[in-house]
Amino acid sequence: MNIKNSKNLFSQAKQFIPGGVNSPVRAFKAVGGDPLFIKSANGAYLYDEDDNAYIELINSWGPMILGHNHPDVREAVVKAIAGGTSFGAPTAREVEIAELICSMVPSIEKVRMVNSGTEATMSAIRVARGYTGRDKFIKFEGNYHGHGDSFLIAAGSGAMTMGTPNSPGVTTGTAMDTLLAPYNDLSAVKSLVEANKDEIAAIILEPVAGNMGCVLPAPGFLEGLRGLCDEEGIVLIFDEVMTGFRLSAGGAQELLGVKPDMTTLGKIIGGGMPVGAYGGRKEIMEYVSPDGPVYQAGTLSGNPMAMAAGFAMLKQLSEHPEVYSKLETTGGKLVEGIKDSLKKLNLSFTVNHLGSMYSLFFTDLKVKDLTTAQSCDTALFGKYFQAMLHRGVYLAPSQFESLFLSTALEEKEIAHVIEANEDSLKEILS
Ligand SMILES: *Cc1c(COP(=O)(O)O)cnc(C)c1O
Repeated sequence: MNIKNSKNLFSQAKQFIPGGVNSPVRAFKAVGGDPLFIKSANGAYLYDEDDNAYIELINSWGPMILGHNHPDVREAVVKAIAGGTSFGAPTAREVEIAELICSMVPSIEKVRMVNSGTEATMSAIRVARGYTGRDKFIKFEGNYHGHGDSFLIAAGSGAMTMGTPNSPGVTTGTAMDTLLAPYNDLSAVKSLVEANKDEIAAIILEPVAGNMGCVLPAPGFLEGLRGLCDEEGIVLIFDEVMTGFRLSAGGAQELLGVKPDMTTLGKIIGGGMPVGAYGGRKEIMEYVSPDGPVYQAGTLSGNPMAMAAGFAMLKQLSEHPEVYSKLETTGGKLVEGIKDSLKKLNLSFTVNHLGSMYSLFFTDLKVKDLTTAQSCDTALFGKYFQAMLHRGVYLAPSQFESLFLSTALEEKEIAHVIEANEDSLKEILS
C-alpha cells in the first residue's frame, strides 16, 4: 500500500498543528503507523491522497449514516450557500429543523441549536444546574460527552485512547462536582445519590455507549435511572450525540422506550456540518436565555448551510423508515459473518452489537463497562486495525470506539469486510 502523500502531509502537518491533527484519535497513536489524509469520499468509500480506496465503517465518527456525499444533503448545502453563509439573525431554516427534531425525538419539546456535541452537553449540564439549583452531576466511567472540563473525568473515546483520562487543565474544583459511577451499575448510582442527597442536578449518560467500544445498557438499567431521577428530582440527560437518529429516527430513547428529561444531539444532526443541539421538556428548556436565566449563546449557531445540511439529512431519515431496516440487516449480516469467522478460528473474542453500531473486542470477557472494556488486548487490536486497512477497510483507529455503518454498504462491501476480517485475524494470530 503506497501512502507516500499521506506520510508527507503528516510530517508537514506536525510542524504547524499539535500532533498533526485537529482531533487526537485521528493520529493513529493507539494503533501505530501514520494517519491517512483523505482527499474525498463517496457512498461507502473513502479515498486517500494516494488514491487508495477504503470501505468506510466509521463514517466521520457517525454523521454519514446515508454514506458520503449524499445528493440531497449536498444539493441543500449548495442551494443555501447561494443565499449567503451567515446572518447572525433568525432564519426560516432554524424553525423548520427545530420542528422536525421535536417531531422525531420523543422527549424533546423545545430545542436549541449549537455547533458541536461538546457544546450541547456543556450547555445541557448548565441548564440542569440552573433548573434544579444544584451543582453536582453523575457521569459514567467510559462514557464520553465531549471535551468540556467537567466531563474529562474517566472519559471514553480519545481521552481514554490517549491514556489521559484526567486531563491537565481541568481544575480540582471542577472535578469535585463530577461524580463517577461504573456503567450498568444501578446500585452504585443509588449509593452516590444517597450520599449526596439533594445535591445532584443531573445524571448524564450514553443510553447505548459507543466511546469505550459499543456497550449496551443492561436490562433495567435505563428504567432504573429514570425511576431514581423521578424520585430524587434529578434531571436525566441522554447524551444521544452518537445514538440520536442512528439507532432509530428517534434515537436510543425511542428504540429502548425510556424518556429522558433532556437530550443532547450532534453528529448525524448536521449531515456532516458542525452542528449540535440540546433539548428536552418545555419546563426545563424555558430556563434557557432569553426565556430564562441560564445563559447560552453562539455567533454561528443555526448557521444557514449547517441547518440546510441537517434538515436534508433528518428529512431523509424521518421519511424513510427503510433506512433503519436496511442498517439493521447490514449490521446483522456483518456481525453474523464476523462471529462465524471467530467460531471457525476457534476464538472467543466478544462482539457487542446494536443496529448499525458494533465493536469487536479483543477479550474473552463480556464487555459491559469500562473495567471489562479495558481487559482488551489493545496491541492486538492495533495489528488487526493495520491488517484491515491493508485489505481496504477503514476502522476507527482505537479499540475503544464503536463502528458506525451506513446505508451505502451493499452486499459486495459486506462480503469484503467479512473476508478481510477473517484473513486479518488469521494473519495477526499466526
Ligand atoms: C462525539 C460525542 C460527543 C462530542 O461531540 P463533538 O461534536 O465531537 O464535540 C459527545 N457525546 C457523545 C456521546 C459523542 O459520541
